[in-house]
Amino acid sequence: MQMQEIVRQHYPNAKTGAEVTETFLDLLQSEYKSNLKKMLFATSVCSDDVNVSTDFRRVLSRPFTMGGLGGLPYAGFTGMVAFSHHIPDGGDALIFYGPHIGITDDGELGRMRRLGQKRLTNSCGALMLALDRFQHEENDEDIYVPQNVDYDYQQVLLERTLMPFKTQILESENPKKAITDYTYMQINKQIQRLVRMSIKEFNCEKIFLLGGVIINTSEEFNDYVDIRNFDVIHVKDGIQAKSISILESEAFQNL
Ligand SMILES: [Zn+2]
Repeated sequence: MQMQEIVRQHYPNAKTGAEVTETFLDLLQSEYKSNLKKMLFATSVCSDDVNVSTDFRRVLSRPFTMGGLGGLPYAGFTGMVAFSHHIPDGGDALIFYGPHIGITDDGELGRMRRLGQKRLTNSCGALMLALDRFQHEENDEDIYVPQNVDYDYQQVLLERTLMPFKTQILESENPKKAITDYTYMQINKQIQRLVRMSIKEFNCEKIFLLGGVIINTSEEFNDYVDIRNFDVIHVKDGIQAKSISILESEAFQNL
């Protein structure tokens, strides 16, 4: 079976990273008349080195990195405001976000064979660790409470963010896929909220939001992306959301 068929058994709409990059950059240029040379690009994807599966970075330089373990936008409100202030004059903003999940050559989700390795490892490692801790709790009948520690706060925050969905994740047909889907929903929600909170700070016409699940394959195959959301926000129309008064402070205005 071809890799594409294997991937599409789980993600019927997935396209290769290259296809996604080409399709959307073309759309931004031709349909929305965006100047890619002036586009400022941000990502909220996992820190994992495997996440270079889309080629946006080849075309759009200098990504503003909002993400960390699992892909949550840990840079938060301050990060989004800073990003909004860095867009070149006459340019637009593009934010690409989402979690990632590995797939083996046999079609097993949650694991992958990485560059230069023969063995299989977890992907996303942070999400599979969170899942393992949730499952462990079920078996031990102990309540697992992610404890906040300053040497591992991203993992703790990721687990806390997913805790409300623990039952649905554990009872789903494929918990590895489910935890990835719930993470996508949380990243999407947070990015949407952060953009709306800081909408008045964007000195551009359009903000493009592109979200999906990145599917990592072995070295010899293309990586895939299951696109779940594409939003075009026209900044001048504003958004039905309250701006945050903290933005009035000079320190925020000069981020
Ligand atoms: Zn990861």
